[in-house]
Amino acid sequence: MEIFDSYELLDRSDLEELQAVRLKTTVYQATASNFYRNRLARSGIKVAHINHSRDIAALPFTTKEDLREHYPFGFLALPREKMVRLHASSGTTGSSTVILHTQNDLNVWADLVARSIHAAGVRSRDVFQNMSGYGLFTGGLGIHYGAERLGCLTIPAGAGNSKRQIKMLEDFQVTVAHIIPSYALHLSSVFDQLGLDPRSLHLRIMLIGAEPHTQEVRTRIQDIYGVKAYNSYGLSEMNGPGVAFECVHQNGMHLWEDAYLGEIIDPVTLEPVPEGIKGELVLTTLAREGMPLLRYRTRDLTRFIPGECPCGRRHRRIDRIAGRSDDMMVIKGVNVYPMQVERVLMSIPEVGQNYLIQLEREGYLDQMRVKVEIRDEYFVEDMRQLQKLQQKIAGLLREEILISPKVDLVEHNSLPNSQGKAIRVVDTRNKQN
Ligand code: ADP
Ligand code: ZN
Repeated sequence: MEIFDSYELLDRSDLEELQAVRLKTTVYQATASNFYRNRLARSGIKVAHINHSRDIAALPFTTKEDLREHYPFGFLALPREKMVRLHASSGTTGSSTVILHTQNDLNVWADLVARSIHAAGVRSRDVFQNMSGYGLFTGGLGIHYGAERLGCLTIPAGAGNSKRQIKMLEDFQVTVAHIIPSYALHLSSVFDQLGLDPRSLHLRIMLIGAEPHTQEVRTRIQDIYGVKAYNSYGLSEMNGPGVAFECVHQNGMHLWEDAYLGEIIDPVTLEPVPEGIKGELVLTTLAREGMPLLRYRTRDLTRFIPGECPCGRRHRRIDRIAGRSDDMMVIKGVNVYPMQVERVLMSIPEVGQNYLIQLEREGYLDQMRVKVEIRDEYFVEDMRQLQKLQQKIAGLLREEILISPKVDLVEHNSLPNSQGKAIRVVDTRNKQN
């Protein structure tokens, strides 16, 4: 099967026509929920006003706080009895939010995931190991049903237990793995401990996502495992994985615009930014009946990549997520994103697979301390050599982030590893004094 889904092949004008029809239907359905009935009545918007996808600009935004305030059922557009599944966000930035799905919603979602992984080159003959946590986190069941829908032999490995993961990869001759990028780096050190070569597996594709990561991390994963690694973007409020995905060209993630209407706004003025400029991604569900969301502010920073992709899909591509708008650290008045630090660290060959940023207060001054794991072969007794390495890392970081961090070199595998999304920043500034 070369082409999975006819929605994938729509040209721009058919796609936009479909979006207009689906947007109108979505707004109509949304008015059945308590939240939107009130919100839309207050803003004076009528369904009749929505005739084009650009009419979305008249609608109010929806935020994570709205979801929290109307937790758990305030957004349901159909009776609770029609809902068959509940998922929650990982709670990375506070208390989690829940999304409920009808059977139809689950079918649409499985199709989107199947389409996504197919675009990245996965085929029904593949053996697919899903190393995401199962349970409320959407990376488990969300990816699982999509891989099955495509016809892969799907292994619900779940998260953690690295030795068992490696045994499954070997025993079942796994060809495709879905894995969180920070865990992929960690797993490689378990291969080292066991004296096994990750390149000797049957793996050919890794699908990496669920957390911000840099091109440098992708390159490392590809080199370590001898695979192609594709970026996968999703959030539980928009179902989960299968919102935007890279195709084999690895040049940005196609946002599935038949199912999601995407906008990029300036997070301060809330106005759209010009094409190609970075801002906050705002998404509207176009194919969800149980719990439609209008203009949901993802807080994820990205941009639409101008131009067309050589694969022929006309769904626009979003760039690698630069971070969340609330990830920004302000240190000595300078704005720094964790991904800037990662980009520098992961391009230094002596640096191992993990790092941690600590924000501290020294007197009245903020200080950034970066703990960096160093590869065994460079972690030598010679203090002068280590000092030189420390200065080199500090210098390269200063060039990128414009402040001087303190750099601690630590041994391979000594920093905490999480089975889920990595915690890259620990802020102790308010706990000191
Ligand atoms: P939480 O917001 O609590 O982490 P989710 O599990 O729903 O809950 O995670 C969705 C978030 O994960 C996204 O909003 C985004 O910040 C991050 N994310 C998901 N995929 C990617 C990706 N490919 N690149 C960067 N960040 C991602
Ligand atoms: Zn493409």
